[in-house]
Amino acid sequence: MQIANSKLEELKNMLQTPQNIVILSHTNPDGDAVGSSLAWAEVLKSKGHNVECIVPSRFPYYLEFMPYIDSLLIYKNDSEGRINNVVRSADIIFCLDFHTMSRLDGLSDVIDENQHAKRVLIDHHLDPMEDFDLMISYPEASSTCYLVALLIERLYGAESITKTMAENLFVGMMTDTGNFAFSTLTPDLFRVVSVLVNTGIHVPTIHNHVYNSFTEGRARLFGYVINKKMKIFHNGTVAHMSLTGEEMKRFWFQQGDSEGFVNYPLTIKKMKLSAMFTEHNDFIRVSLRSRGDIDVNIFAQRYFHGGGHKNAAGGKSFVSMQETIKHFEASIKEYAKDGLL
Ligand code: 5GP
Ligand code: MN
Repeated sequence: MQIANSKLEELKNMLQTPQNIVILSHTNPDGDAVGSSLAWAEVLKSKGHNVECIVPSRFPYYLEFMPYIDSLLIYKNDSEGRINNVVRSADIIFCLDFHTMSRLDGLSDVIDENQHAKRVLIDHHLDPMEDFDLMISYPEASSTCYLVALLIERLYGAESITKTMAENLFVGMMTDTGNFAFSTLTPDLFRVVSVLVNTGIHVPTIHNHVYNSFTEGRARLFGYVINKKMKIFHNGTVAHMSLTGEEMKRFWFQQGDSEGFVNYPLTIKKMKLSAMFTEHNDFIRVSLRSRGDIDVNIFAQRYFHGGGHKNAAGGKSFVSMQETIKHFEASIKEYAKDGLL
């Protein structure tokens, strides 16, 4: 894929003189959301812009090592007044790694108050909302970090990618591809990786920070969920797991501890689709993964008010855990009947 010249020109025009810029990413920000925001902020700051990054909720603890992560404004923690001011004075609002305002939770109301700023989307999810002044939307890109790396190269040259930008970009490229195992692994992705590695980043260290820095509670919780909570049905091709608030407490749950659990059932040979249900205060978070042609983006849209990518999607359920599981099992039956599973 290539970012269209017309879009680059438009972006260049917007950024010709110093601007007040806000970079937003989604709730429960992951490596791609945080990495793309921080790298994009760093390069824009180096070009004289005034930049703030805002996320609706806190990032998981194992991302704390990422360069400049403490500069992120967190809507749920930081004084709302400060965030309101930053948003109000923005000339440009960049939306990174999400495709619908529902992924901003309460923060979307704050954004709505600024109607004069230009809105720019940089994202790789399917079916993005359309009300942007500029849409840099490429669902075939494996991560938003990859898109940001391409933008930096095309706007400012590969040599303007610093080691700290490279670390942040590498995190998102690594996590959104399941450590370079799935999604669209194009030759150009590996070319960009080589540009990043050339800045001097140490890949094994980054890998250790992201994948080997969990708590003991997380390891025990994982064992418990797989052993006691994984239910396999539909002829061994579909699995679901669930985690209640009580169970989280029992294992000293910290935000991010269940990240990645949903992928594990897909290590079973016959498995086609895996789901994980996690209890939150006002809803149950639904996480979906699939293999090959099975489309969980459509499944999430149809049955769980959500969306995402073909093989990784999510949504929400507003009924009890028991009812959510019943609804999921019935939905699987219907999906199969429609020939989609
Ligand atoms: P995860 O399971 O890692 O939370 O999310 C997987 C994918 O589904 C991500 O690309 C994410 O953007 C998308 N996704 C997760 N939750 C939601 C949701 O509530 N609504 C929508 N539209 N997409 C979601
Ligand atoms: Mn992403």
